[in-house]
Amino acid sequence: MKLTPAEQDKASLWHPFTQMADWCDPGHEPLVLQSGKGAMLRDIHGNEYLDGNSSIWTNIHGHAHPAINAAIEAQLREVAHVSFLGFTHPTAAALAERLIELYPGNHLKKVFFSDNGSTAMEAAIKMAVQYRQQNGEPERTGFLAFENAYHGDTMGATSLGGMRLFHQRFATHQFPVTQVSTMQDLEKFSAAEQITAIVIEPLIQGVNRMHIWPKGMLAELRAWCDRHDVFLIADEVMTGFGRTGTLFACEQENVTPDLVTLAKGLTGGYLPLAATLTSQRIYDGFLGAGDMERPLYYGHSYTANALGCAAALASLDLFESERTLENLAAKITRMRELLAGLQTHPHIGAIRQCGFIAGIDLVAADGSPFDPAARIGKQVCDAARKHGLLTRPILDTLVLMPPLCTTETQLESAVEAVRKGIDQVLRPCQLPA
Ligand SMILES: *Cc1c(COP(=O)(O)O)cnc(C)c1O
Repeated sequence: MKLTPAEQDKASLWHPFTQMADWCDPGHEPLVLQSGKGAMLRDIHGNEYLDGNSSIWTNIHGHAHPAINAAIEAQLREVAHVSFLGFTHPTAAALAERLIELYPGNHLKKVFFSDNGSTAMEAAIKMAVQYRQQNGEPERTGFLAFENAYHGDTMGATSLGGMRLFHQRFATHQFPVTQVSTMQDLEKFSAAEQITAIVIEPLIQGVNRMHIWPKGMLAELRAWCDRHDVFLIADEVMTGFGRTGTLFACEQENVTPDLVTLAKGLTGGYLPLAATLTSQRIYDGFLGAGDMERPLYYGHSYTANALGCAAALASLDLFESERTLENLAAKITRMRELLAGLQTHPHIGAIRQCGFIAGIDLVAADGSPFDPAARIGKQVCDAARKHGLLTRPILDTLVLMPPLCTTETQLESAVEAVRKGIDQVLRPCQLPA
């Protein structure tokens, strides 16, 4: 007898950040997603859902977009992948040129490709360390990062991260990082001459339950970095490609970092590809006489994967041809209105919105937080699924971050599904029979 996909999954798979004992419990029926179109996903039974968290913050223009599919198919007819060690290819070269043109400030001049947000961070970390070694500042070895930050799951990226739940358990194997929580905190820091770089998620910390930084903070951070000659690394893995309302988050405070990491939305959410953008100064600090002397000692087998680069170019074209950002402005306003309508709900605490990203805190009727062990956030998302919305909470914060192509009508249904999900879990007696 052939197993169903769910049975095959339970027999052979191990999922990220998942208690597999719960996953494999006979009472748990995994949702098997088979296809997608625009902002919608469809399961093997034919049920449709709005992709409320853009397939974990990656999708931009919708699923199975004909233009992105066609670009991947065209590249596939040429070649899927070639080594970037010792060779180059036209698609990567065109994409690098495009990213440099698009990143505001005309300060970032070179692009280093890798595979995902974590490896883009690893590249930035290694650039920041090796640059100082070979440019007369060997004492600048330290990193600064913000409390409750998230920069990925590889060891270097977890070292910079500040989420206890994710990062603390590997502390014995991480490099030391000084954490600060605010600009005031940073102003008190007295050992800046030992620091090579500071890393921030600009405007909004995603995994920290969509925590929004005070307005102007990013510009203050840039000024602090200039005063102390510390590199500013902007982790735009989540915020990049329109999510915050502008193509990149740093635009909103006219800040140009020294290093920028891009991943999730880079290919429109189709293929794993990442980029680390750097200034001319950092790049020049690696020039020398021959491969043995000062090249960046870093790289992956799938660097600059041609299919990924083709998808990324097609996604950037769509920002122009579909006027994605121009159309997004009204949707952001509509999201704000719809969320304001939820604000009076007795089980909704704070709502935070940055561009087309929202975090909605669930609270008890007296406004206090729930016991995390009750997993109310997860229960509400499971209930919302029955009303056509797929998303995943961060503890008891619901995340609404649909693809930028989501229509206002779809947005209305999504917020309605959130309301119904909450009512079903927390106010069951008030539901109509
Ligand atoms: C998701 C994320 C990462 C890690 O990216 P992966 O592709 O999952 O490795 C890094 N930084 C931020 C801000 C993210 O949201």
